[in-house]
Amino acid sequence: MTPRRLALYRTVDEQTTVVSAGAKLGCPTGCGACCVRTPPHVSVADIAPVARAAIAAGEGEALHDRAVATGAGPCVLFAPGQLPGGCTVYAIRPVICRLFAFAAVRDKHGALELAVCREHTVADPAAPARARAYLDGGGDAPVFAELQLEAHDPDDGPAELVPINEALAAALERELLRARYR
Ligand code: SF4
Repeated sequence: MTPRRLALYRTVDEQTTVVSAGAKLGCPTGCGACCVRTPPHVSVADIAPVARAAIAAGEGEALHDRAVATGAGPCVLFAPGQLPGGCTVYAIRPVICRLFAFAAVRDKHGALELAVCREHTVADPAAPARARAYLDGGGDAPVFAELQLEAHDPDDGPAELVPINEALAAALERELLRARYR
């Protein structure tokens, strides 16, 4: 893991903690909907650290085969019941996974709009109003597109966003090939 990427993870986690506290948004315990029902699109570069860790643990080829077989289905890194959040790679999960439900998009005037998770709204119908009030009161929030751009590293693959299992399979192929020539 490069110092730059570690610093990025730290920054994103700090920013989303501020949003969570300021707008009083929190994921329902053990939810995992964003990993299972609507798995994210990520870049190959953003998931390269996960691929490298799996190869170092001797699990690269098996994980690759699971990712290919699952395709557009649930993220293969999700394990129901495992905490925190069911993610088996929580400490090195991609930037989009850190941002989801606590980050913003910009409207056509450049103003921030928090993308409140549908599951939060179902569990807590006042969540969208609180998110708006938080921003109206001067609160800040990380912006998906800007942080995803920062998460890109041209040495680790293309920046294009694809379904997470597809990105993971491609990252594993790249890293397995690199390992073979090392
Ligand atoms: S990497 Fe982790 S947080 Fe991201 S979709 Fe997969 S299980 Fe969920």
